[in-house]
Amino acid sequence: YIVDEYLKPYAVFDHNMDMAYIDNAEITTEFEEAIANEELEVYYQPIVDSVTGKIMSAEALIRWIHPKKGFISPGIFVPKLEEDGSISKLDRYVFQKVRAYIRGRYEKGLEVVPVSMNLSWMDFYDETLIEEIIDFLEHAEFPSRLIRFEITETSYAALEENVGNVLNKIKEKGAWILLDDFGSGYSSFNMLQKFSFDILKIDMSFTREIEANSRARKLIPLIIEAAHALDARTVAEGAETKEQVEFLKEHGCDYIQGYYFYRPMKKDEFSEKLDQNS
Ligand code: C2E
Ligand code: MG
Ligand code: MG
Ligand code: MG
Repeated sequence: YIVDEYLKPYAVFDHNMDMAYIDNAEITTEFEEAIANEELEVYYQPIVDSVTGKIMSAEALIRWIHPKKGFISPGIFVPKLEEDGSISKLDRYVFQKVRAYIRGRYEKGLEVVPVSMNLSWMDFYDETLIEEIIDFLEHAEFPSRLIRFEITETSYAALEENVGNVLNKIKEKGAWILLDDFGSGYSSFNMLQKFSFDILKIDMSFTREIEANSRARKLIPLIIEAAHALDARTVAEGAETKEQVEFLKEHGCDYIQGYYFYRPMKKDEFSEKLDQNS
């Protein structure tokens, strides 16, 4: 019953399972067990240099393989965990796994690249998680530049000042902050005005329009230019075609994340890619 998520990118059910099932509260109660039972696994999606194609970093993305329901997309369960306040448990788990992974390779002297993990706006309410992150960066078992944090504008909007302070502390300790899903919300440019992000991730909704929409082709270079003017680098999310990749490269987008190069993968497979990277 473990379904290939790439064939069926969203929730997968038993035949007698109703679609409504996914919407009820069971997700959040089952989530605790899922952590205990190791049904949750961190996948890694490489992010490449747009010119050389070399892996420069990766994003940690959670995968939940439910014993009965199969693959449940984080696009479905992350918002549910945010609603009931348990998302920081997930993010703490991801943080621990990512740290252990990087440390393992770093200590063996193997090739490592920075890995970014997603922080939910809810995480900023969890003081112990934030303390854990800062404490870790102070006593890091490896250079703190090897771990990065992605936030969306929702985090900022929810708790403006406090988030800025936390992010500044994280940056002072040497970890980069990425602005995720840029352009998909309501106040993206306002975010750029408020905080000095290290990397801006151009939302997939732009990338996938490159071939069909001349407005996207006008906007993307301007987003890249704005980022560079603010000393931020750019990652384009969701590149799937050669045309998209060529366009992004031509317009100076620094890095690319997308199925054209790599899908999110298990850590062992990611390690193999890193071993071939140098
Ligand atoms: P995100 O942070 O914007 O992550 C990028 C999403 O784009 C991932 O979806 C990734 O699999 C997908 N993606 C990358 N390249 C392509 C492509 O070429 N084509 C297409 N169609 N998709 C591509 P995923 O893994 O399903 O995650 C969805 C969202 O769930 C994430 O969006 C993030 O907001 C959230 N999420 C995932 N893992 C975590 C986590 O550990 N913690 C938190 N708080 N949120 C997470
Ligand atoms: Mg992200
Ligand atoms: Mg994103
Ligand atoms: Mg997203």
